[in-house]
Order: sequence, then structure tokens, then C-alpha cells
Amino acid sequence: EVDADLHLVDAALLAGRLPARPTFAHKGTFGHALLLAGSKGKLGAAVLAARSCLRGGVGLLTVQVPAVGYAVLQTAVPEAMCLVDPEKNHLSELPELAPYNAVGMGPGIGQDDDTRAALEDLLGTARVPLVLDADALNLLGANRALLDLLPPDTLLTPHPKEFERLTEPARDDYHRLQLLRDFARQYRCYVVLKGAYSCLAAPDGQLYFNTTGNPGLATGGSGDVLTGLCLALRADKRLAPLDAALLAVYAHGRGADLAAAHTGQAGLIAGDLPRYIGQAL
Ligand code: AMP
Ligand code: MG
Repeated sequence: EVDADLHLVDAALLAGRLPARPTFAHKGTFGHALLLAGSKGKLGAAVLAARSCLRGGVGLLTVQVPAVGYAVLQTAVPEAMCLVDPEKNHLSELPELAPYNAVGMGPGIGQDDDTRAALEDLLGTARVPLVLDADALNLLGANRALLDLLPPDTLLTPHPKEFERLTEPARDDYHRLQLLRDFARQYRCYVVLKGAYSCLAAPDGQLYFNTTGNPGLATGGSGDVLTGLCLALRADKRLAPLDAALLAVYAHGRGADLAAAHTGQAGLIAGDLPRYIGQAL
């Protein structure tokens, strides 16, 4: 039985939760995010997440990619600083984490053993908010002992298949929500189960159902855009973890609704989304 309180994520719930940018703000006000993303053939995921993070209002963004992605990132996202992993085609190690206010890992990283080791290192050493998505979640699912290393308040953004790898196959949608609530409670983390009406589970077991978005989002890369936005809002020290997650999910869907008004749902591609995030926020 789902005994948690259920909430709708709409404009009323979020009113007043996004602080304005102060007149005397500087880059440091909004945090410095580190994004670990990309592997050979999947640099697009890194580009999409990076653009989205910047559009989400982060102060500074550094992206670490394998060497094969350096020119891609610097060209496609000139606003981001770029660190180059010693490996050519996949991520294998962490940079010094001290400068960063939040770290995101997952879009397009693949599942190499070196990358798993870097994830394990991140879970063991990070003292700042983490956002984990995509292959970072698949690596956790394939190495479940790592789940016990998840720092409290980590934000995970699985789609149903990724969530199943973290837990077990759900008998039906209702059972999946029970698994979601139990997982968030057990690991003291925030989990966005993505899809239409994405559901955010909080560590206290409360469930929040999003009201924005449309089937135009059923297209490659749209989840990477959500990851970048989550990272931007978790890097902002002014936002509580719950508010950052709720605002990210809501604004991602709202951005897709604004974009689809121009492109139609079928014509919507993930690269359209970042430019609408500011308006959505
Ligand atoms: P991913 O599967 O990682 O690319 O993430 C897909 C993103 O698109 C998530 O944010 C989903 O919530 C969203 N999405 C996918 N399909 C739909 C849909 N039919 N309606 C609304 N949002 C969707
Ligand atoms: Mg995804």
C-alpha cells in the first residue's frame, strides 16, 4: 500500500520556491557545478546536459569528458570549462572535487570498469550534492553494493528501466511506486521516476507527481536535459534539495510545453529544450 502523502507539482506548489537573482549577484552566488558525462559516440548527452545546466542558471560549469570529447565540448558549449580525462574514449577518474558545489554524473558515460571505479570514488569522497542519471544508475544497478555508499540527499533520475535495474521488476505501476517510495526511504535520497507524470520520491516517503511535459519528450536526449537542470539547481546553495528537485522536474516539462508550441510534439528534439528553460523557471 502506498501510505505516503501524495502531492501534485504545479505552479501553486512551487510559488515562492525559486529565489530571484539578487541585483549584486556574481558567478559565485549560483554555484560551480561539475558534470561528468560522455563517451565515444555519446558526447551529445554531455553537450545537452551542459547546455541545460547553464540555462538553469548555474554560476560556473566545468565538464569532464574523455579526450575524444574535448573539441566537441569546447565548440558546442563555449560557456563551459572543460577537463580532459586521461582515457581517450571513456571516463576513468575524478578531478579534485574541492572547487565544486554539486557534481552530476551519468549522461552518455557508458559502463566501462574504469568508469565504475570513478563512480565508486565519487560516492566515497564527495561532500557536495550529487545528481546521478543514466549509465551511472546502470552501474549502480549492476553493482548494488555501491548503493550503500550513496550520500544522503543524492538525486537520482531513472526512467522505469533504469529504476528496475536498481530494484526489481515491478508487477504493475502501483507496485513500482511502492518500490520507489521504499528506495527513497532506505537510501535517504531523492528519486525521480521519469515518464509522463514523473514522480519524485523524497527520503521521508512523500511522493510528488509532475503536471508539466508532453509526449514530445519521448525522444533521445530529453533525460540528459533534465540531468543538467537538476545539477544547476542542486549547485545553488540557496535551494533546499526538495525544492531543487521539484523545480527541475516542473521546469523541464514546462520548457517542453513551451518548445512544442513552436515545433509540435513530433518535431520536438532534446536540443530545443535548453533555450526554454529560463522562461520555464
Ligand atoms: P530519458 O528516458 O532518460 O531520455 O528521459 C526522458 C524524459 O522525458 C524524462 O524527463 C521523462 O519524464 C520525459 N518523458 C518521456 N516520455 C514522456 C511523456 N510521454 N510525457 C511526458 N514526459 C515524458
Ligand atoms: Mg536517460
